[in-house]
Amino acid sequence: MKAAVVHAFGKPLVIEDVPKPTPGLGEIVVKIEATGVCHTDIHAAHGDWPVKPSLPFIPGHEGVGIVESVGPEVKGIREGDRVALPWLGYACGGCEHCVTGWETLCHEQLNMGYGINGSYAEYAKGFAKYAGHVPKGIDPKEAAPLTCAGVTTYKAIKMSGARPSDLVTIYGIGGLGHLALQYAKIAGATVVAVDLHDEKLKMAKELGADITINATKEDPVQVIQKLGGADSVMCTAVSPKSCEQGFYSLKRGGTLVFVGLPKENIAHIPIFETVLGGIHIVGSIVGNRIDLAEVYELHAAGKTKIWYETRKLENINECFKEIEEAKIAARLVLDMT
Ligand code: NAD
Ligand code: ZN
Ligand code: ZN
Repeated sequence: MKAAVVHAFGKPLVIEDVPKPTPGLGEIVVKIEATGVCHTDIHAAHGDWPVKPSLPFIPGHEGVGIVESVGPEVKGIREGDRVALPWLGYACGGCEHCVTGWETLCHEQLNMGYGINGSYAEYAKGFAKYAGHVPKGIDPKEAAPLTCAGVTTYKAIKMSGARPSDLVTIYGIGGLGHLALQYAKIAGATVVAVDLHDEKLKMAKELGADITINATKEDPVQVIQKLGGADSVMCTAVSPKSCEQGFYSLKRGGTLVFVGLPKENIAHIPIFETVLGGIHIVGSIVGNRIDLAEVYELHAAGKTKIWYETRKLENINECFKEIEEAKIAARLVLDMT
């Protein structure tokens, strides 16, 4: 089968023929219809983070497709079902995190397109227990971005505790941010969208953002503080500076939710102001299986919109460039049909 493979960090992915996977105990093999390109895949291919994937590997954790074969002891999924293979590919199921709905914190977790091969391929193998069921009526090309960008920002908004009277700020209106702002609106909040590009902010307006700020033209901290300060801030931009601006955008008692994972890894957050301001700082990593099901449910009910453009697997290296240069609306989705 055809796949895009990372052989060396920072080098172009190679499109090549690799053996088609076969399902083992508890596993399924999925014929991929669509797979989104998350900025995480770029970090993975560049080896940006402290914990690196082992080479070679196939990225992709927004894979959606039809189950082609099932291994022994698979329950609840049959051949022909449409499923998604999210970032959380496997967890132990028995540790304190797993049994309290926090399988995303499990020390034994395996991640699609990072610790195990992902969906930049004609077929991908996953653990049935951690695959998501894609409801009928959702286009696989829309289900793909929901599988990471959707569930991650849905969870981040839950973590922020956003309420109807809140002012919520989203830094970074890319794949994640364009959904984060919609979930904040669903929670009833007034939403401020911050990015560096006018086209992204135009999209944010169309998706319901109340206020938009181009951080290359205005100081977002000043504008947001003039509004009274944000009750919560979601940092989805790949930029430590935006995390720092996010901190200073908060009102006292506010919540800063770190979501984006810039390779620099460090943001300078002052202790004094955090303590005196009673600021909450939260790290939010994807979402669990119920969060994912809720994300699909909201989309099936017509409550979210996905802005995406399609590309072919062969063009994956150009896709990475387009995303790094912020040249696309929100998400690129590889059409594998
Ligand atoms: P993306 O490239 O689609 O979006 C990033 C957006 O941030 C772009 O619109 C860009 O213009 C904007 N931006 C860049 N610098 C900015 C700045 N200084 N101020 C404001 N906006 C700025 O990326 P994405 O796929 O949405 O992913 C974003 C980040 O989230 C990545 O680091 C990714 O690895 C991470 N991520 C985290 C989780 C998690 O569970 N925490 C899940 C998925 C992705
Ligand atoms: Zn992702
Ligand atoms: Zn566990």
